[in-house]
Amino acid sequence: MNTNETPLTRRRFLKTSAALGAGALLLPAISWAQAPAPSIPRRKFGRSGIDVPALGLGCMFDIADNLVILRQALDHGVNYWDTAVNYANGRSEIGIGSFLASNSDARKEIFLVTKASGAHSANDMTRLLTQSLERLNTDHVDLYFLHGMDDISRVDQPEIRAWAESAKKSGKIRLFGFSTHSNMERCLSAAAKLGWIDGIMFTYNYRLMETDDMKAAVDACHAAGIGLTAMKTQGARLGFDTPAQAALLDTLAGRGFTPGQSKLKAVMDNPKIAVACVQMPNLKWFRQNVAAALDQATLPLAQRDALRRHADATCSAYCGGCSHLCESALAGAAPVRDVLRYLMYQDHYTELDARALFAELAPEVRSALPRLDYSAAERACPRRLPIGSLMRSASTLLS
Ligand code: SF4
Repeated sequence: MNTNETPLTRRRFLKTSAALGAGALLLPAISWAQAPAPSIPRRKFGRSGIDVPALGLGCMFDIADNLVILRQALDHGVNYWDTAVNYANGRSEIGIGSFLASNSDARKEIFLVTKASGAHSANDMTRLLTQSLERLNTDHVDLYFLHGMDDISRVDQPEIRAWAESAKKSGKIRLFGFSTHSNMERCLSAAAKLGWIDGIMFTYNYRLMETDDMKAAVDACHAAGIGLTAMKTQGARLGFDTPAQAALLDTLAGRGFTPGQSKLKAVMDNPKIAVACVQMPNLKWFRQNVAAALDQATLPLAQRDALRRHADATCSAYCGGCSHLCESALAGAAPVRDVLRYLMYQDHYTELDARALFAELAPEVRSALPRLDYSAAERACPRRLPIGSLMRSASTLLS
């Protein structure tokens, strides 16, 4: 996720710069050259009671080449670091491990999160965790996620639960949970009833937060003591090509925030979200997000309404993750949600290798994608996405 938006015209840039300059008076003054740095507000991570920063560092990029971000993050109290074995082809975990090798005292300051991708058994989990700990150069992680769950049945298994309890007992993990980009509301609501899930990382942004199902799912998890980490907080980058989009930019700039900062604040304004985890691969985005987190005021109504209107107007341009609808309409013939997510990565996440993710799909699945009839899926899609043309575009762009 980033706060880097579509390039502006010169005229619009000047207008926006003026607005940001005036609005900057409303933001906390930050001196990046002087210590001590202002520290991010902190929240409790569910029933664990562990203090975490409201802003977390998403490490889905080549950390090994950007170690300066880690030091800056610690200096500002952004000590929730989220990584995974497959981020940046392993160079995310390796980079954090490199940092810890030369800053061993820093380990106790960091709430370190990583994930098991493609685990199908307790043995898989043990192997993947062992490999991650070696790359991270540590003896434990604070939170370990099963990665990319789309149905609670993949998590709610006696073998997985026993593994999590054993790993916690051994001290190799402190907390256990899962991440989800698909069917988030269903996964959260079901997890709230289990009683043994400590944390969930899920897609949550201004496009998704207003539905009754999402509100109920977040409330249920919060009541159950599950620590919630929001990801994909930007809901894809805004464009400013149309008059309506330009008007939105002006409204957002009225508070002195960039569009990315406004979207982040909309997420952080929900106190039931413990951490808004944002990918920050450069210091510019890091500073923008820290400034947004330091500002204690909630997002004003005018900006919140502007985001809501934009979400409604562009509903069919954003996949909401409800894959149980479109994929069951196709009898499971195509992983629609995953492919559309990879397409979003291709368009908006330059640090991610969307083609490599697409290549992980089975060859027979990939080759079938351009030929399938998606009309039943399109009828089932509540957001009216043009699924057929998007899937064919993905096949061309990502192959
Ligand atoms: S394509 Fe439509 S139905 Fe499928 S996951 Fe996305 S929003 Fe939901």
